[in-house]
Amino acid sequence: MTKVQQIIHRLPKSLHRSDSRSEVPTPNDRQAPATSVSDTISVLDVVTGSPEETEALAARLATRLGAGDVVAVSGELGAGKTTFVRGAARALGVQEPVSSPTFTIGHRYEAPVPVAHLDLYRLAGIDPEEWGDLEPYFDGTVAFVEWPEHGGHWLPETRATVTLNHVDESHRQVSIDSEDDLGL
Ligand code: ADP
Ligand code: MG
Repeated sequence: MTKVQQIIHRLPKSLHRSDSRSEVPTPNDRQAPATSVSDTISVLDVVTGSPEETEALAARLATRLGAGDVVAVSGELGAGKTTFVRGAARALGVQEPVSSPTFTIGHRYEAPVPVAHLDLYRLAGIDPEEWGDLEPYFDGTVAFVEWPEHGGHWLPETRATVTLNHVDESHRQVSIDSEDDLGL
């Protein structure tokens, strides 16, 4: 397998994503707050050919992250979410095995900047009490969240969103979106 095929998009999402707003921006859009969809750019959109390549990509993202950053990691079962988080955690200095927290909701790993890994798959929705249990994972950590959709509005604002899709058995499309360039 050749190297990662890398296509860097620095266009606003709305110019090349069919699922985002397709209208020409109106004056209102231009005045929208920094958190609006129209300000999110696709930082990176690549196809990886192995779990190792996905881990290496995650490691690149990890170097741009710091305490308090939250990264949403989306994709169907087996898309490579946990693989991505493993690569990022390694790069952040986590030495213990990084496995799926599907049955424990979350792991917190000690590292120079602690790393949290949450998997919200089993949550149908979060109530305030459950949020109280989850909140400490975000305290002073770089936090990666699988199945962020299940966190609803409780999820803190994300620094980046990673979306993985199956291409074939060994290939995955990996998109990283952020409001920041991230310098990847
Ligand atoms: P998820 O957390 O999304 O359910 P996992 O990371 O646990 O997914 O599993 C992904 C599976 O796909 C692993 O068995 C991994 O070895 C395999 N795989 C094959 N090719 C890739 C690739 N390019 N990137 C990531 N994982 C891959
Ligand atoms: Mg997983």
